Amino acid sequence: MTKQAELDNLKKKILEDNICPELASTATQLVFGSGSVDADVVFIGEAPGKKEDLSGEPFVGAAGKFFDEMLGGVNIKRKDVYITNIVKYRPPDNRDPLPEEKKEFWPYLLKQIAIIKPKIIATLGRHSGQAFIQDLRISADHGQPKQIKVIVDGKEEEILILPLYHPAAALYNGSLRETLIEDFEIVNKLIT
Ligand code: URA
Repeated sequence: MTKQAELDNLKKKILEDNICPELASTATQLVFGSGSVDADVVFIGEAPGKKEDLSGEPFVGAAGKFFDEMLGGVNIKRKDVYITNIVKYRPPDNRDPLPEEKKEFWPYLLKQIAIIKPKIIATLGRHSGQAFIQDLRISADHGQPKQIKVIVDGKEEEILILPLYHPAAALYNGSLRETLIEDFEIVNKLIT
């Protein structure tokens, strides 16, 4: 089976398994992820916002525009990376995703990563980073890759996590903005 077919099946499975039915009932649609199935880097945000909920694609709003700018700054094309979120339905009023919502989506996210098999996972923001590295302190740990072990379908897999600030947090904060732009150089180094 192709990676695309495997991802399509996984998306169907999330719908069939009725994951987070309350969130699903207030959202327009599932925002599963988009980009290259052969990506060397998978970026993982927190949850879709309003624009993402309407379009069905992650990171298409203001934070997404800044994200595209940073990719462009290190000569990476958006079509060559894969982008998704920890929680794949928009939380009402853009509230933070709840721990149980993150927990419900977790095995599907790990499967998504296992299908794509990227060289690195770049987490965007604290929620996403702490899902992989529990004791993450984003101000100290951003830009520092860390190898971790996860269990996917009963099998241990090693993945390299690069914690980054969230583009929405960095967008209007001069010093975080510079830091995030610099950290994108590390993404580039790790995949080339
Ligand atoms: N913020 C996120 O964390 N994810 C998106 O898809 C959009 C904004």
